[in-house]
Amino acid sequence: MASYKLLLLPGDGIGPEVMGEVTRLIDWVNTSGLATIETETDLVGGCAYDAHGESVSDATMKIALEADAVMLGAVGGPKWDGVPYDKRPEAGLLRLRKDLELFANLRPAICYPALADASSLKRELVDGLDIMIVRELTGGVYFGEPKEITDLGNGQKRAVDTQVYETYEIVRIAAVAFELARKRGNLVHSAEKRNVMKTGVLWNEVVTQVHKDRYSDVKLEHILADNCAMQLVRAPKQFDVIVTDNLFGDVLSDEAAMATGSLGMLPSASLGAEDERGRRKALYEPVHGSAPDIAGKGAANPIATIASFAMALRYSFDLGEAADRIEKAIADVLDQGLRTGDIKQDGCKTVGTREMGDAIIASLKSAT
Ligand code: NAD
Repeated sequence: MASYKLLLLPGDGIGPEVMGEVTRLIDWVNTSGLATIETETDLVGGCAYDAHGESVSDATMKIALEADAVMLGAVGGPKWDGVPYDKRPEAGLLRLRKDLELFANLRPAICYPALADASSLKRELVDGLDIMIVRELTGGVYFGEPKEITDLGNGQKRAVDTQVYETYEIVRIAAVAFELARKRGNLVHSAEKRNVMKTGVLWNEVVTQVHKDRYSDVKLEHILADNCAMQLVRAPKQFDVIVTDNLFGDVLSDEAAMATGSLGMLPSASLGAEDERGRRKALYEPVHGSAPDIAGKGAANPIATIASFAMALRYSFDLGEAADRIEKAIADVLDQGLRTGDIKQDGCKTVGTREMGDAIIASLKSAT
């Protein structure tokens, strides 16, 4: 039986509460004989700062680098508002992403039929929606140099950010998107602004070449990023996989996510390059933050974190079927009318974190 090492970093606020439900799913994987997942639990974010004066310690980073995958809950909260900038809770998360060299951010936007009425779009536009946004995470305008504000001395200032992409960065993110599309609807939309940006021209050229050389079996469409934003609210179901740069990906993934309802439902994965064994470094985390307003109340929705764990099973542990089963169990409990506070609906039963986890595990076990 395959054996994997998973580092759990519950973090702050609701992080430990939602991660608690994941540990029960890990037990389910282990006792079902699907694989052996060995876990280690450590600190990140504000709790790590309180313990070590750093938002992630070198010792934790060493474990993260050696693990097959890392799962993170959430970091931050008002308690740490005054800590020095380079030690703030989010710095721990940024170091993890940087040191693990996670260049591909995967953000699924899935609309469970039971929640279609919670979307700001009409039910028929989002019912059954299943999009994957693949965002380049380590390059582009957030990191390009020069990046500065200059005082011009005449009462004016000048700010510069620089959008830079090199061929290899576009090749590797395009390959991730095409590989994913092959396992899904076999369609990739590549979004850029080639009409006004040189990086858009190169992006288009490189994606076209990668497609021609290695993935001509996948359907490729090029789309201008602004048109992509419009199409996502006009007819989102036309998309399968969207691949785009860091800046456009930041905006388009949030836009697509909102079509699905609540923050408490949104998982994510960030992947690095394949090593010689064909494995990628990976970090799985819910999109939401530490929700200090509801922390400690047992009210948080654990589904985003549970769905992130399902992504870990699929992309790091080669357990796609178990991932499918967890996603089906999530859909089942929503169909049964169970809702946490963030997705509560008339006629449905409002439950807490633990009860939601109980129901998902019960559904999994009854389907076995
Ligand atoms: P947030 O995502 O923590 O919360 C926004 C709203 O959504 C809150 O009302 C919260 O109660 C609700 N919410 C979020 N997740 C929920 C869940 N699982 N179940 C039910 N309701 C949920 O964003 P925020 O309030 O802007 O930030 C709070 C803290 O989290 C800040 O310190 C921020 O820096 C940090 N943060 C961390 C991450 C991360 O760890 N990746 C991401 C975003 C924000």
